[in-house]
Amino acid sequence: MSQRSRILRPSGAASRPAAEPTERERALATEMTKDNHYVPCPLCRAEFDLFAAVWCAHLDAEPSKICPACRLCLCDHPAYREPNFWKDAPPAFQQRGFQRLFLYYL
Ligand SMILES: [Zn+2]
Ligand SMILES: [Zn+2]
Repeated sequence: MSQRSRILRPSGAASRPAAEPTERERALATEMTKDNHYVPCPLCRAEFDLFAAVWCAHLDAEPSKICPACRLCLCDHPAYREPNFWKDAPPAFQQRGFQRLFLYYL
């Protein structure tokens, strides 16, 4: 005889007053569709806009972005082949062609 204990759900928790989005929610929404993402280049430390940088032409592996300061991509970076240095790309990055996200690009 199996009697499963019922999961108590607080009723009415989802009933939020329908109001205008708060400043905070607006800011978060903007965050999702931001146009710039500045990261320091792991090679030369210059900060550059990741979204504006061009992809490199190394198609054998996952292409990386070319740093406008040192003109190098990250394909030769020691961590670039390490699976631990990758995570799933957030939606804002997927819109920019990133299937996965190299942690130095975060
Ligand atoms: Zn660089
Ligand atoms: Zn490359």
